[in-house]
Amino acid sequence: MTSLDDLPIRDDLRGRVPYGAPQQAVPVALNVNENTHPIPEDVAHDIVARVAAAILRLNRYPDREFTELRAALADYLGHELAPEQLWAANGSNEVLQHVLQAFGGPGRSALGFAPTYSMYGLLAAGTGTEWITAGRDDAFELSPATAVAAVREHDPDVVLLCAPNNPTGTPLSLDTVRAVADVARGIVVVDEAYIEFAEPGTPSALTLLGGRPRLLVSRTMSKAFAFAGARVGYLAGDPAAVDALRLVRLPYHLSALTQAAALGALAHADEMLAMVDEIRHQRERISIELARLGFDPYRSGANFVLFGGVDDPHAVFQALLERGILIREIGIPGHLRVTAGTEAETTAFLEAMAVFAPNRI
Ligand code: PMP
Repeated sequence: MTSLDDLPIRDDLRGRVPYGAPQQAVPVALNVNENTHPIPEDVAHDIVARVAAAILRLNRYPDREFTELRAALADYLGHELAPEQLWAANGSNEVLQHVLQAFGGPGRSALGFAPTYSMYGLLAAGTGTEWITAGRDDAFELSPATAVAAVREHDPDVVLLCAPNNPTGTPLSLDTVRAVADVARGIVVVDEAYIEFAEPGTPSALTLLGGRPRLLVSRTMSKAFAFAGARVGYLAGDPAAVDALRLVRLPYHLSALTQAAALGALAHADEMLAMVDEIRHQRERISIELARLGFDPYRSGANFVLFGGVDDPHAVFQALLERGILIREIGIPGHLRVTAGTEAETTAFLEAMAVFAPNRI
């Protein structure tokens, strides 16, 4: 049988492993930070109607500039953003890939603060960008001083700030974003994939865009918006930076079906986001209960919780899986990550964890 090693693959991809969150059909899937609540049925019907109308025109290519979608995204984000400040792609992974294709690439580097979202390194590899990681402060926080020191040391072409950070859940202060944007020579991306789950009143990096043409803020409809399967991510920034992404995208990269579905979901933004408060509540419940059981949950502004104090993470992962509960091994010794699900899913997880509790009585 031919193995990958037998093929003339690029030298810099040899030996690498693809993104690999396990895909398993289980009753309680809490491993990839989805919104586990299904989308409301009336919204689904409206989306179906819009997609049906788009199907009748599938003989034609879609709007290459996704004009209507840009306007709807600008409207949704507010902050007086104009449609030409918006970009969208098939998930924010593709948005980030466009950024690295345009602003990274061979001979250039991207900097992140580990542990952080595992796709950053893979996207860097795929685009031939050198991937550099710097450390964080205690409890995975990232202070302006720590972040600025790393930017000064490595002088990267792209900085990827994950706010809140995956897999740790750590919120990121705008002071850190501001400080990094002040010293960075290159593009600074703030990945706000989970920002809707932050404490109410938490300001977004969108508030910093004015006068900072190298600052980009990426978002996704996959998490709070409960639209992971549709693959819609987006970004806001200076019109010139957004325009640069048109150089690297494939023509017609957003299908007419995707555009129609996204417009339908955005037309019902309030209903789509209705479960966010409840998910935040379940996240708080996980943090409180895990601490009570004797684990060490970290501060989270996302829809998941990272916790330490696990003697044998793989054994716990396996034992939960045997009970139909899938969580995430993220490769940090003694730690696991769990997504906040529905109340019932969260209860199933917490009951299963009680068996492994350091404080078990
Ligand atoms: N950024 C972060 C921090 C994420 O955790 C994820 C999804 N796990 C993404 C981006 C990508 O999400 P999507 O491509 O579904 O928009």
